[in-house]
Amino acid sequence: MRLLEARLVLKSPAIVTQRRLERGFVKPADHILGSMLRGAILASLYRAGKLSADDLKREVSEPSLLASPAYPVMGGSRSMPATPFMFYCRSCGASVDLTREAAGKLAQGEELEIELRHDCGEALRPLYGSLVVLEGQRLGRVRVETFRSTSVAIGKDRGSAVREMLFDYEAIAEGTEFWAWVLAPDWLQPGTMEVVVGRGASRGFGWAELSLRPASQPQPGGGVLVAVSPLIPLSSLGWGSCTVALARVFGRVDRLQAGWEYGRGFRPFVEVARRGSLVIASRVSCQPEVMRAGLPTRAGEVWLTGFNSLVPLDEYYMIMRGG
Ligand SMILES: [Zn+2]
Repeated sequence: MRLLEARLVLKSPAIVTQRRLERGFVKPADHILGSMLRGAILASLYRAGKLSADDLKREVSEPSLLASPAYPVMGGSRSMPATPFMFYCRSCGASVDLTREAAGKLAQGEELEIELRHDCGEALRPLYGSLVVLEGQRLGRVRVETFRSTSVAIGKDRGSAVREMLFDYEAIAEGTEFWAWVLAPDWLQPGTMEVVVGRGASRGFGWAELSLRPASQPQPGGGVLVAVSPLIPLSSLGWGSCTVALARVFGRVDRLQAGWEYGRGFRPFVEVARRGSLVIASRVSCQPEVMRAGLPTRAGEVWLTGFNSLVPLDEYYMIMRGG
């Protein structure tokens, strides 16, 4: 097993929607779910005859290939989810990053007071929830290029447009590049493959070139971590011989519907802390490779994947700086 870095470049527009919140809200995603990326890789290997149907069944009951969510690469820089302590000023465009200061205080159990007014007098707005890239010293908000289009299905019998089959979609533009961590079992080697993400593959949507290369060596360690994916805020995350005890999680908890798990026909609702949440780990006994790709969590009969991707704060900044 080793950690690979995936780069995925869309060769056709992709219809990837955000997870449905309970209030039933769907819009185009700015990322690709970890579970979707994992499924895309497995399906591609199956189509290429490199995995058998039995291999796929085993991946459902005992996942060994794991993927973190894939986030956009903007101007060559890997984006990351903003922490709850990153802000921007709508008036002068400046960003304010209080993450390190907050992490220091919170790790000591100290109180934290945040001045939510920028020097210019305007109220600061949170970046938390968004994806950010470092542009010099400034945090820039990531916006993925999408376009909206309406398709009309043609009825087979009369060759006419069928009104009920009119559908509207918003797609991520072709050429968009994403990055992710992939925990690769020994049978998955670096290289390139064609994968499909999102809906409408038969209509040509979501085709992408995926390249897998060795990732830079992840640093072991606990302390203050950033959740690169949504995090299931249990007091202890465990998978195989891995244990990560979470002393505190700073972030907003949402209830959302998990992605389609590979090979499973239902999507459970789970409570998760948003991507970018800050985590204080009291005990880490886990390979850093597994932590980057995200520890699966059991939910009844299934393993939820694509959650619990964790990175130490220093490495988080190193990645955004291009390290
Ligand atoms: Zn300002």
